[in-house]
Amino acid sequence: MKKLSFVLIFLLLAGSVLRAEEGMWIPLLLKKYKIEDMKRAGFKLTAEDVYSVNQVCLKDAIVIFGGGCTGELISGEGLLITNHHCGYGNIQKHSTVEHDYLTDGFWAMSKGEELPNPGLSVTFLVRIEDVTDASLAGVTATMASAEREKTIQLNSAKIQSEAIKGTSYTAKVTPFFNGNQFFLFVYESYTDVRLVGAPPSAIGKFGGETDNWMWPRHTGDFSLFRIYAGADNRPAAYSPSNVPYKPKKFLPISLKGVESGDFTMVFGYPGRTTEYIPSFVIESQVNYSIPASVDLRTKRLDVIMAAMETSPEIRIQYSAKKSGIANSWKKNQGVLLGLKKVSAIQRKIEFEKRFQEWVNADPGRIAQYGTVLDQYKDIITKQAPFELAITYAREAGEAPEIIGFAGRFASLVDLALKGITPEVQKAADNNKASIAAYFKDYDALTDQKLLSVMMEAYTKGITPDFQPELLKKIAVDFKGDFGKYASSVFENSVFDNQVELMSLLGDFNSKSAKKLANDPALLMFKSIRKLQSELINPGLSRGQGQVPELQRLYMKAQMEMQPEKLFYPDANSTLRISYGKVDGFAPVDGIQYRYFSTLDGIIQKDNPQIYDYRVPEKLKQLYAAKDYGQYASNNTVPVCFIASNHTSGGNSGSPVINAEGQLIGINFDRNWEGTMSDIMYDPDLCRNISLDIRFALFIIDKFAGAKHLIKEMQLVR
Ligand code: ASP
Repeated sequence: MKKLSFVLIFLLLAGSVLRAEEGMWIPLLLKKYKIEDMKRAGFKLTAEDVYSVNQVCLKDAIVIFGGGCTGELISGEGLLITNHHCGYGNIQKHSTVEHDYLTDGFWAMSKGEELPNPGLSVTFLVRIEDVTDASLAGVTATMASAEREKTIQLNSAKIQSEAIKGTSYTAKVTPFFNGNQFFLFVYESYTDVRLVGAPPSAIGKFGGETDNWMWPRHTGDFSLFRIYAGADNRPAAYSPSNVPYKPKKFLPISLKGVESGDFTMVFGYPGRTTEYIPSFVIESQVNYSIPASVDLRTKRLDVIMAAMETSPEIRIQYSAKKSGIANSWKKNQGVLLGLKKVSAIQRKIEFEKRFQEWVNADPGRIAQYGTVLDQYKDIITKQAPFELAITYAREAGEAPEIIGFAGRFASLVDLALKGITPEVQKAADNNKASIAAYFKDYDALTDQKLLSVMMEAYTKGITPDFQPELLKKIAVDFKGDFGKYASSVFENSVFDNQVELMSLLGDFNSKSAKKLANDPALLMFKSIRKLQSELINPGLSRGQGQVPELQRLYMKAQMEMQPEKLFYPDANSTLRISYGKVDGFAPVDGIQYRYFSTLDGIIQKDNPQIYDYRVPEKLKQLYAAKDYGQYASNNTVPVCFIASNHTSGGNSGSPVINAEGQLIGINFDRNWEGTMSDIMYDPDLCRNISLDIRFALFIIDKFAGAKHLIKEMQLVR
């Protein structure tokens, strides 16, 4: 008996050691909760080496890159590495048919050749502080949720303004555990960020949508940028006289590579996870919004991809848009499969049963949490048709670009109809710059096809009571022929024609305002928005106001119910640490995936007939000559590896760091079988996919010949 319980305890412990890979931890709390476990897993640095406000540490080398990615400093001259797909929008903006950096790659051979990117910024974290008490000052247990929210907002505003007094920093108080805890984040942003290098898409995006979210993988998903600062090393608006930023810290790069079982840590900005939601929320997503979104995006992608095949110009114009649409389209399909595979809904239902028993066992708990799940479920059930309706409005109704683009002028037109004032003239003028940018990446014929296909899908996919009035009318007027409807829109609208639109705005008067007001694209936009404001939004907001509060209570109760469990907060675009180990996995019975891929695999995939698998000539030559330099391992070049770090969207571009604190890879994706980790992480199935840093260096050095960049870095052998 004794022996048995010993075995049982051992198994439980072993289980909890394995499960330790789940979680995205707050750097500030590393010392208190996690560093010992990280050390047991092999990590050699201290908590202060990772995060500290008193000494230079790893966090000083990490940035939020643009809107939703991570990047890290890799030289003392402000050189930064992130993913190719994170830099993609900027690489695309610099690309034309004559200078096609997407196809050919781009390498600045001197600092003078680096390209500025208006609108792009990088943001450093200055410090984190637990401000839970100050945020909740004045909040009482009996307060209505709106009042609670308002009190917290006022408190947060005060905390934020005090935190940045006399500095050029920004500050944000962010809720954790669904609003049960609050942390202050102080940031500093640099806005002069220049493009330094990007491999051709045939490397940076190798495998395209086919390989996206998949293992095995052979994508060289990296790009290089440089941060520039004023002469005082402080943030400064773009100026040719700015100088390369001198970082407090940059990451040394290990050439040693990885072995199965090695400790790895990912340090970056995961965007959003929902690990603590109840079964019925998952059920609603799985049954309604996710399948509808997948279906509508399939239709949209079919049109766009067919058009991209027809001309190099359209391919450039639509490449970034296509990637954006396809990314969540593909991921969502994996999510549906993964949730099923781990029986996510069933496991949550079982947990909820235990939860309810725990609540019911105590009158105090009954008073606090007795009806939380019932109320929550009731709202989610009633909201389901409205969730489906909003998915259709966005993903069908506003998918043709002409609709959303016309919508940008809606308030200008409304104003102008009341009278042409100098403000109206000015607003009309202000639109001109963005119009040029919009039309650079626009093909009217492709969009006309999209309008026809998406409106037909809208009509067929959802019941008439959730369709815009105008859609119902045109279905009758055009006898269900949406191709005819689309040609009539494109014949009569000005929103597909840059010259016409510019000349209308150039001499903006009440006649032009009337013309725009009756434009068929704007009319459709307005009809969709009317449906949203009059039917969908009220339907959603009836319960929506209560959902965050119910989720907060449910979160609080889950933590009270399991006091022995160390909870990690859901991702919320704040800096986190995940750690795990290099490890293969078994996607299905009978298959075991290895933990790394190599250049040999790229050559195996080479297929000149398929756009995504065309290997650049130069890479083939390097392969044939085995010209791998110091980046070789076992007579090839490693390309990607997988590990069990718990990551999410936003972790793209995050450094993958070894036990010594050196850069070994750039995180860029997850495996298909594990994309449900945003909702339920499974240590056997979930893997993050990283670019082996040696492949990035090989491409920079041998493929691009940009040895000057390698010289800036600190390589460790
Ligand atoms: N590919 C993702 C991104 O773009 C990363 C992930 O979700 O794992 O952020």
